[in-house]
Amino acid sequence: MTELLAQSDAYLREFDAVVVETDPVERAVALDRTAFYPGGGGQPHDLGLLSGLPVVRLQRRGDLAWHWLGAGGAGGAGPGLPAVGTRVHGVLDWERRYALMRTHTAFHILCGVVWRDYQAQVTGGNMEPLKGRMDFEFQTLHGDLVHEIEAKLAAEVAAAREVRVRHLPRAEAFRIPDLIRTKINLLPEGIAVVRTVEIEGLDLQADGGTHVANTREVGVLRVSGYKSKGRINKRIELELD
Ligand SMILES: [Zn+2]
Repeated sequence: MTELLAQSDAYLREFDAVVVETDPVERAVALDRTAFYPGGGGQPHDLGLLSGLPVVRLQRRGDLAWHWLGAGGAGGAGPGLPAVGTRVHGVLDWERRYALMRTHTAFHILCGVVWRDYQAQVTGGNMEPLKGRMDFEFQTLHGDLVHEIEAKLAAEVAAAREVRVRHLPRAEAFRIPDLIRTKINLLPEGIAVVRTVEIEGLDLQADGGTHVANTREVGVLRVSGYKSKGRINKRIELELD
């Protein structure tokens, strides 16, 4: 099983680990622990280096986080794949990861504001570093409201709200109304501990992604697009500086 270090410390940029499985055909290794985010919940996987080799892709398969490794130096097949039992050192592409942490947090602010002030539910979303989109069941959303929402988002960034991560026993999490609203019941049966991400006083979700510790770190953001996808379904796009 791979311990996902970013679940408890999103600010970890480097780590040591041991290779526990390899896939020479795919040129991928699984580690006992990793600070790389393997992707999921709308947040893309990290990039970086593993003992000098570029990490080009990640994916969770069962209990293991697999890291696909590029060839490193110019030309040829490059250095071989580290064998099972090898100690390796990982370094994240921090600029990309931190941009994703800011972006992910910006979308939680959007979720929180849209629910608090318009009682509209999120139906889906996706992000890249510094931009993304989120879809809502938001019948009353129209173009003018977008500017109002943009101002409210800036206010929540300026309010410097703390973002807290907790790990709760399943039964306890299932009693929290905000989590029930965000469809916590869709979590697989086997999950005994629920990781929650709370923007103090604004938003609470069950979430496996990486976020900044305070909304002020999100910085400048704007609503870069708005699309009506039918009478009820509306899409809001955000961009960060
Ligand atoms: Zn999230």
